Amino acid sequence: MKAVVNQDVCIGCGMCAGDCQVVFELNGDKAQGKEIPADLVDKAKETAANCPVQAIEIKD
Ligand code: SF4
Repeated sequence: MKAVVNQDVCIGCGMCAGDCQVVFELNGDKAQGKEIPADLVDKAKETAANCPVQAIEIKD
């Protein structure tokens, strides 16, 4: 699974990168998502749900 951040929606608050740094990183003023290790899928989904602007999609 992969985390995808909608670059048009992300406000660069940094929550996701701080909460789940294996999967999300800030790149300039936007977050980028990466492949999600199997043991972090639940955590990544939780982080996505907590994004204040719902910019994160978890894809198969
Ligand atoms: S939590 Fe959402 S708005 Fe904040 S940096 Fe991550 S993707 Fe962007």
